[in-house]
Amino acid sequence: MAEIRVLDKHTAELIAAGEVVERPASVAKELLENAIDAGATQITLSAVRGGIQQLQIVDNGSGIEAEYIDKAFIRHATSKIATAEDLGHIHTLGFRGEALASIASVARVEVLTRTETDEYACCYRIEGGEERGMEPGARPVGTTITVSDLFYNTPARMKFLKKDASEGTFVAETVLHAALSHPEISFRYLRDGKQQYVTPGDGDLRSAVYAVLGREFARDLLPVDGGSELYHVTGLVTPPRACRASRGAQHFFVNGRYVKNRTMMAALENAYKGTMMQGKFPGAVLMLELPPDMVDVNVHPAKTEIRFAKESDVFDAVYRAVRAALATPGSGECRFEMG
Ligand code: ADP
Ligand code: MG
Repeated sequence: MAEIRVLDKHTAELIAAGEVVERPASVAKELLENAIDAGATQITLSAVRGGIQQLQIVDNGSGIEAEYIDKAFIRHATSKIATAEDLGHIHTLGFRGEALASIASVARVEVLTRTETDEYACCYRIEGGEERGMEPGARPVGTTITVSDLFYNTPARMKFLKKDASEGTFVAETVLHAALSHPEISFRYLRDGKQQYVTPGDGDLRSAVYAVLGREFARDLLPVDGGSELYHVTGLVTPPRACRASRGAQHFFVNGRYVKNRTMMAALENAYKGTMMQGKFPGAVLMLELPPDMVDVNVHPAKTEIRFAKESDVFDAVYRAVRAALATPGSGECRFEMG
């Protein structure tokens, strides 16, 4: 019989990090969520070489107090919940206190942050889970986090990454979802130093869609606002005549989180039955709001799958809301556009 050992702290940390950090896009998602939770109104994310070489996020949120910076990098350290009871009513995107610890164990991380009460900014470095020091710095209130050389110390993980371009596309998708789910925040996205877009942050979903998905897509979108008492469905859908050749332009959000969900997709597409040719797909940005206890968002820390307590109620609500949107005069028949 082989001896049973408790793994050393470093090895255990790397295994735990693997749960959260799969690729650059997972880092981007966690950093974006933290900036949103910090109340930022302006967020800039830049990715170099698909985010493998570097991901940097600049926000104008609350900042982290200098005396707590090192704590933020301890696993299960969070300012967002305090007790088990809090798990029942979570109002932030994060709450596990795992992201920064995970990221710092598989990359080189620099944080430059300042709160309103701090006179100076604080610059903190951590690499492969090892602290590299802290010094005073300068910046307005908010936080800049720079993550470099992802997986530099875990070659096995590195091997599973795709080409820079593909990883960059995953990162771009992540920023896009953040921008669509938070039209009240101005998002700027740069890829290899080149600005891809800026959303105005004026709270209007249509203008966020225009900025990130382009004029062609944003044109003629039909507003959705309906559902049932418990299931509120809002957003924008393409008119049947602007149908597309793939599902690539379907974006679903549940209680503010981007999700992949077959029920919502089926309800959306069913609502177009009879107005659209087979093999064509509507485009949509659909937000579903429902009581938190009717949905399990906690299936996996990094994944976007969710479970609804009552799938058929969700289907009905989405179907009805989209049907009503399509009944608007002028929504029209399919013109078989490509895209
Ligand atoms: P969680 O988001 O689950 O709390 P994280 O590991 O992502 O865990 O972050 C740990 C803590 O660090 C957060 O609870 C928060 O207090 C702080 N933090 C992280 N990023 C930011 C940021 N951009 N602005 C302000 N505080 C931050
Ligand atoms: Mg977080």
